[in-house]
Amino acid sequence: MKPFDSITEAIAVNRLSRSQFLATAGRGLAIGAMSSALTSCAKQVAQPVTAQTTPTPNGPVPKLPAVSPPATVPSDPAKPIELEPIKAKTEQKNPPTPTPLPPGQRVGYAVVGLGHLTLDEILPALSMSKKSKIVALVSGSPEKMKKVAEQYGVRNDYCYSYADYDRLKDNKDVQVIYIVLPNGMHAEYTVRGAQAGKHILCEKPMANTVAECQTMIDACKQANVKLMIAYRIQYEPYNRKVREMVQANQFGKVKSIVANNGQNSDNPKHWRFNKALAGGGSLPDVGLYCLNTIRFVLAEEPTEVSAMIHSTPGDPRFTEVEEQVNWLMKFPSGVQASCATSYGHHDDKSYRVLADTGWIKMDPAFPYQGLKLMTSQAQGKENQVIEHDMGQKNHFMAEMDHFSDCVQNNKTPFTPGEEGLQDQKIMEAIYQSAREGRPIKLAKIDKKDAFRHTARRRVAADRRRTRQGPPDLPPTRVGRIGRASPCPTGQNRFEVWSGNGIFEYGKFRGFGPQVPPRYLRHRCWSGAHYDHTQECHQDQSLSLGLLVLWTAWCRENDLRPDSGQDH
Ligand code: NAD
Repeated sequence: MKPFDSITEAIAVNRLSRSQFLATAGRGLAIGAMSSALTSCAKQVAQPVTAQTTPTPNGPVPKLPAVSPPATVPSDPAKPIELEPIKAKTEQKNPPTPTPLPPGQRVGYAVVGLGHLTLDEILPALSMSKKSKIVALVSGSPEKMKKVAEQYGVRNDYCYSYADYDRLKDNKDVQVIYIVLPNGMHAEYTVRGAQAGKHILCEKPMANTVAECQTMIDACKQANVKLMIAYRIQYEPYNRKVREMVQANQFGKVKSIVANNGQNSDNPKHWRFNKALAGGGSLPDVGLYCLNTIRFVLAEEPTEVSAMIHSTPGDPRFTEVEEQVNWLMKFPSGVQASCATSYGHHDDKSYRVLADTGWIKMDPAFPYQGLKLMTSQAQGKENQVIEHDMGQKNHFMAEMDHFSDCVQNNKTPFTPGEEGLQDQKIMEAIYQSAREGRPIKLAKIDKKDAFRHTARRRVAADRRRTRQGPPDLPPTRVGRIGRASPCPTGQNRFEVWSGNGIFEYGKFRGFGPQVPPRYLRHRCWSGAHYDHTQECHQDQSLSLGLLVLWTAWCRENDLRPDSGQDH
């Protein structure tokens, strides 16, 4: 029987059974209840919040309704939650809402050296970071380390002395070692860290000599780990904005840059005044900011330097290292840069870019916070001077999250070891110029950003490699495993031999039960050599037999590294 639309209709035709009456009446009641609920909701939203109270021993406190205003919550963890707008569109935008990775997915850092920079900046920055987390500490002072470990929630068994440093290789929660030691120790701790199979973030200056820098690069390449030099200025928004303006010729052609980074440093007993530990005085410590930032802003390399050095006679601070350096740099585009650095004058950290139609000033340019950017340009009868306020971003957090992203997504850092090596070459030329009293010519490098890895160039390089394939691919037949033995780094290495010598060389994390081939990934190849490096996902281990089969399978299928293919 056809249901009635209303009780009235049923009564009208006088054909209503008991069950039909209940069903029809119930439906009506439900619709009525629903519409009155909706009306009351609408009223609630429209009504102003009335102040109810909650009684407490100290008198009533206002009770306000707890509600969640509208928000968009994307399922992609990398996308931020969008809250309801509270500012007019014409106002300055807030910094982006943080999008932290869940703690278990962040890259684990071991920080080596618990001095000023670590305690004042790096550890607090790690607490704010989105992709990085502190998991281990290395220090020569157990007492200090215990307190720091408590402050930052680092496990006792993840605290290492310098003597225990190499044991980091056994700590699977550590992926990156951040070296924050005196400059003269950077090379040794980088090489040992790389041999332990960890990616390395090393403080500036990279090392004391060009030879040390090269050794660090080679060690990281050989261990197939990433190396980044901690040039925080290249990751913070103000100096990046300057680079953007310069690259866009916003004020026409740049003619010259004047830069200074100096401070009044004390305590002659500190390692910064010891040549072996510091490598030099004000130049590698603070003058380096002028040098590196100018190279970054111009995206080109100097071809000539000319320098003078002075240290106050009799000052106990300057028996081994210099007080003050003034130097000139000439760039292929015609830009001339005039730089100064000192350990002997009141704090000043600034630079000015002078171009055809305007200037750009950063003052201060290099401290951890409080950076200020101004530009000036004539506009008819007035000179328009603008102060650009872009808020502040933690430099160390930005730099570490960049490196963590590189580690997680197999990218080359923006400031790799080659960037530090280039600075070291220029600093050595500056010292030579001052020593010999003449300008020193540097190798001409025409390529923009020759030592920096921009995303565009990296993508192009990847495409080129994929197109060309391995340059020296030997016959597809796999020869025999030449050697497979535990090495001092704790990572088993293998070499696969073919008719014309070693053609594959890599490492993997230990022998063990076989895992299905889909857990294996061949990750990268570098330079001119076809270099298979296998890594087991999620701590799965890999058997030697399987490795041989897998290697053969890869070769037969002509798989390209960088393909990111799981198989
Ligand atoms: P610091 O003297 O405050 O700390 C150095 C740490 O190294 C201390 O914990 C010290 O105990 C330890 N250490 C181990 N062996 C040592 C030895 N033989 N002699 C002296 N100390 C020894 O120095 P810092 O200011 O923290 O600088 C550390 C590194 O960070 C340096 O390479 C420096 O250039 C760099 N740094 C970078 C920035 C930046 O903005 N990126 C700022 C400051 C320092």
